[in-house]
Formats: sequence, structure tokens, C-alpha cells
Amino acid sequence: MNSEPQQNRPPVNIEQSALAQEKVACWKCKKPVDRQDNFCRHCGQGLGDKAPWYYQHYGILIIIPMVGPLALYNIIKSPVISVKAKIIYTIATLAFTAAVVYAVYFVFNMLFSLINGTMTGAMYM
Ligand SMILES: [Zn+2]
Repeated sequence: MNSEPQQNRPPVNIEQSALAQEKVACWKCKKPVDRQDNFCRHCGQGLGDKAPWYYQHYGILIIIPMVGPLALYNIIKSPVISVKAKIIYTIATLAFTAAVVYAVYFVFNMLFSLINGTMTGAMYM
């Protein structure tokens, strides 16, 4: 994707990055950093691919089934994913939450009808 070799470049090198690079605001501390920086030189927070895993695409896909609607917090706050992806993940989270709520309701309904019906008077399952 990126043709520039980044492996050997130290993440914080003021001399190199002073060469006319586009400045963007750090998503954490809002101070200016270079677009190619891996870590913020002010607060040390990871940028882009180095941002915390729970803000990356794969992290969000992991936490949606784990925390359900709480994943919306990370989706909205993520400095990494695009607005379009945020909308898609938000819809996916709401759909997943609705499906879980429905499934739980369905299972409880079934359990209650079991308890009220076949299980009354039974000493064992
Ligand atoms: Zn910062």
C-alpha cells in the first residue's frame, strides 16, 4: 500500500519529519503530528495502524459480539475508521443487539412455558 519503507525509520525523528510533511492533529491530545508518524511525539499514543486495537476494524468486529451496544462508544470514538465505516458498524451493532434481545426474549418465553407447563410437579428436569 505505502511504497515508502517505514520499517527502519524511527517513529520519532524530528529532523526527518521536518521535511515538509503534512500535519494532522493527534486524535488523543490534539497536538500536531506528521501524517506518517506511528506514534504521537507529544502523548505517545499510537496513530493510524498503531492506534489501540479496539479502535481498529478487526477490534471493533471483535468487541461487537462481546459487548453489544457498548461497542458504539469505540465505533464513534475511533480515530482510525472512516465515517462510512462508522455508520455501517453502528447499524451492524444495533442489528446484532436487536437479534440478541429477541433471542433472549424467545428463550425466556420458552423456559417460562416449560416451567408453567410440563415442569410443574416434576422433581427433576
Ligand atoms: Zn498525542
